[in-house]
Amino acid sequence: MSTQQVRVRFAPSPTGPLHMGGVRTALFNYLFAKKHNGTFVLRIEDTDSRRFVPGAEQYIVDALAWCGILPNEGILSDGTPASTPSDQNPYAPYRQSERKSIYKEYALRLISTGHAYYAFDAPEELDNMRKEAEQNGQTFVYDSVLRKRTSNSLLLSEEETAQRLQEGNDWVIRFKIPEDTTVAMDDLIRGSMHVHTHTLDDKVLWKAQDGLPTYHLANVVDDYLMQITHVIRGEEWLPSLPLHYLLYGAFGWETARPQFAHVPLLLKPDGKGKLSKRDGDRLGFPVFPLEWSGSDGETATGYRESGYFAEAFVNLIALLGWNPGTEQELFSLEELVEAFSLERVHKSGARFNPEKAKWFNEQYLRTYPQERLLELYLPILASHNVNTTGEKAGKVLSLIKNRASFVHDFWDLSYYFFQPPTSYDEQMKKKFITEQTPDIIHHVKQTLSACSPFEATHIGNALTTLITDKQWKTGQVMNTLRLTLVGKGTGPGVAEIIEVIGKEDTANRLDKALKQWFDET
Ligand code: GLU
Repeated sequence: MSTQQVRVRFAPSPTGPLHMGGVRTALFNYLFAKKHNGTFVLRIEDTDSRRFVPGAEQYIVDALAWCGILPNEGILSDGTPASTPSDQNPYAPYRQSERKSIYKEYALRLISTGHAYYAFDAPEELDNMRKEAEQNGQTFVYDSVLRKRTSNSLLLSEEETAQRLQEGNDWVIRFKIPEDTTVAMDDLIRGSMHVHTHTLDDKVLWKAQDGLPTYHLANVVDDYLMQITHVIRGEEWLPSLPLHYLLYGAFGWETARPQFAHVPLLLKPDGKGKLSKRDGDRLGFPVFPLEWSGSDGETATGYRESGYFAEAFVNLIALLGWNPGTEQELFSLEELVEAFSLERVHKSGARFNPEKAKWFNEQYLRTYPQERLLELYLPILASHNVNTTGEKAGKVLSLIKNRASFVHDFWDLSYYFFQPPTSYDEQMKKKFITEQTPDIIHHVKQTLSACSPFEATHIGNALTTLITDKQWKTGQVMNTLRLTLVGKGTGPGVAEIIEVIGKEDTANRLDKALKQWFDET
């Protein structure tokens, strides 16, 4: 790596909620910047007014903030508006809509050097040509062949061109793809690539109608002006790379051209193709970091609202398309910075596995400090009108947290510690409740009342002694107790449950079950 200060950018278009693949691109940029003590810029590419979605920029900012992927230049997470250019910051502003006045000059520069031209084709004319091509079984491409038939400044005289420019604003500036040239490109992930220019079309760079550049021009000009050293972006932009190379060449900016790294697509958990919102809806997992509700009525669930910890989400997306070269799977953001390198980003698509995503959350849940989890658990208990001590809640939490994937699983896994069962599993009842049950329960009650300290190991030992003395079957007794205390066949060890529920409540639950099943008092 050269000694040049690393400057990378995440440059999303605010066209809707940011997909988890977009967050992963931002993360890779962030990790790369941090690793090299560089700068991570957030630039908003909002020049396509037809695709602009209100709220999408705020969503991007909020999503990155939730993940802790904080830009240190550009649109900042505290909502600070992009500043105006100054001696301290020549790069601002960072919303392309606020940079509108910059781009025309660059488009005109390409015209004056013969790298671009004015095109005056009316939409209907283009439509007709498209139809004609389709009728002949061809695809319509605005290329070096077609531009010899269209109305553009390459064919018109200077006077005619000047007149057409004055007449209206229905014209555009197109890039003139050089004929019969091979574009040689480098990618830090994919190596060297070659594309022949006959496969490329004369893309629109700037439109007179709205005075705005298209993505290609604005993107390249801004990467240049913002002195971006590395462009790390999704694989879907790879087809644009030859044009971007040609643009750098046409501007004479080859030496300032950033290095490129196109990161692999996220693939569906099953079948072929890109991971989409529909896959999430179909298979029941989120594909967006945060919940979204668009003004058009479109809604989407988020990882945050589905109960994922931000750390777990960041960890799981980091491993989609990148591997550390070791067996390690759990990484804090700092550890990711340390371990990350573009060389270890894969070329092939990364298949998303929702089960594995859940696994990451479980791992974080298992390792978080008790106090942090308790802070999340106590309000859940309060919302169910449970009045308990922090000590009991803490004990319950220790018993159930290894069975939970999310904090919102806590209640379902633990309600029976705080309230006696209101119903009993029929299958278990059939299997374990016999005429021997009252005898078992009476003796268990006696044993427990004498048990001191009332603590799981003692309780377990006392029950084992009782079972051995009476020559009962362990499974029979333990399942009977579990059923009377929990109402079903799940939960931690019976002795642990008894300890936490306490002597009195255990006795009450045993009495209640007996009464219900045998009408005993
Ligand atoms: N605005 C483009 C996007 O929405 C940026 C592509 C790039 O990073 O060059 O993803």
